[in-house]
Amino acid sequence: MLSNIAARDVETLIHPYTNLSTFRETGPLVLERGHGVWVYDTDGRPYLEGMAGLWCTALGYGNEELVEAAAEQMGRLPFAHLFSGRSHDPAIELAETLKELMPVPTSKIFFTSSGSEANDAQVKLLWYMNNALGRPRKKKIIARRKGYHGVTVATASLTGLPANHADWDLPIAGFLHAACPHHYRGAEAGESEEAYSQRLAAELEAQILAEDPDTVAAFFAEPVMGAGGAIVPPAGYFPAIQAVLDRYDVRLVADEVICGFGRLGTWFGGEALGLRPHTLSFAKALTSGYLPLGGISIDEPLYRAMLDESVKLGGFGHGTTYSGHPVACAVANRALHIYRRDRIVERAAERAPHFQAALARLADHPLVGEARGMGLIGGIEIVADKPSKRQFEPKAAVAARCVAFAQDEGLIVRFLAGDRIAVCPPLVIEPDEIDTLFERLTRALDRTAAWIA
Ligand code: PLP
Repeated sequence: MLSNIAARDVETLIHPYTNLSTFRETGPLVLERGHGVWVYDTDGRPYLEGMAGLWCTALGYGNEELVEAAAEQMGRLPFAHLFSGRSHDPAIELAETLKELMPVPTSKIFFTSSGSEANDAQVKLLWYMNNALGRPRKKKIIARRKGYHGVTVATASLTGLPANHADWDLPIAGFLHAACPHHYRGAEAGESEEAYSQRLAAELEAQILAEDPDTVAAFFAEPVMGAGGAIVPPAGYFPAIQAVLDRYDVRLVADEVICGFGRLGTWFGGEALGLRPHTLSFAKALTSGYLPLGGISIDEPLYRAMLDESVKLGGFGHGTTYSGHPVACAVANRALHIYRRDRIVERAAERAPHFQAALARLADHPLVGEARGMGLIGGIEIVADKPSKRQFEPKAAVAARCVAFAQDEGLIVRFLAGDRIAVCPPLVIEPDEIDTLFERLTRALDRTAAWIA
């Protein structure tokens, strides 16, 4: 029997990424408030937010400084846009700070309201740039199977997950997918991580050659894959891939929507993994998830091409009402101030070994085939048989069951395709809370094992 609020929800809301059929029976988990790494439901029950919301609430819940920054800006100037040369101080300040923080040479910053919009703008700008440069055939984009880049028509086409393609008539033409760099699943018996990386690079090169390098504009990659399974690339992967991209003048776009702002213990994930992208996309932790804000970095060659198009066409024909929203920018400015003042990125790096050691111990559990992560992100794969890595039938939904047990234990984690579970807590998590997280997850795995038996 659903509570009153749950019944009202079921009758009125469509929930993203939810089984709309079973949801009618289960109803929602309705959250009411949060503090630190904890969120509370409408009955006052606490849950450790082991997913930082959706990989975003890096500074945890109830951060009064962020609330204050929003309130101040709301009072001063709640809306202003950046169209037709208009501007406002919060956007200028944020662009300046981001330019300083960018790990790659950056000319300008363009703001969006989400990660999808950021990657969508990247795609459009690649096409725009190659038209400006007089190479109108160089438009195809390669992303990776299991990569996640968003849900607009273009970014769902980049995304390499069946659920985002099946019956959506996607991907659209010109979007290709390379292999997912998952050593546990993809490597041949006895193949080292380095050898596997070299093989994937050779496969990518063959793919680019088969397509004709003059038709391939860019390669998109998350440093650590998030929604596709919280998958850490094998050793040497990005340097090997990047050498191929450089050979064929294929630009690299780093999707830092999850890894940006400290998740891997570095400001940007690419710094921890040897990526040298031309441009990168960011969102989520920029405001600690408190308000929607994303964006992209623009390098000088891209900016030059955009300038030329303004001369040719009379203007830059792209932008959305809320891009560079002043309240979101004010919150981001305050969040970045807190990141720097409180050494949030360094502290994430300091806590990572403790987190990773606890994650690694899960590999001893009879249901866990892989437990691997980086920084403060972890991916766990549940298998039916460890030696053969045999998976459970997808319809048994074992990881979903485990996540439900975790919720029952007072822990929020996320199940992903292929019976994977992601863990990605706020960066401000304390060591004892890391222990609580993994104790609860272990209990959830034990209950899952008992349920299967
Ligand atoms: N890119 C990555 C790596 C993501 O994880 C996400 C969302 O989870 C997106 C892009 C899309 O961002 P949004 O949901 O804000 O559109």
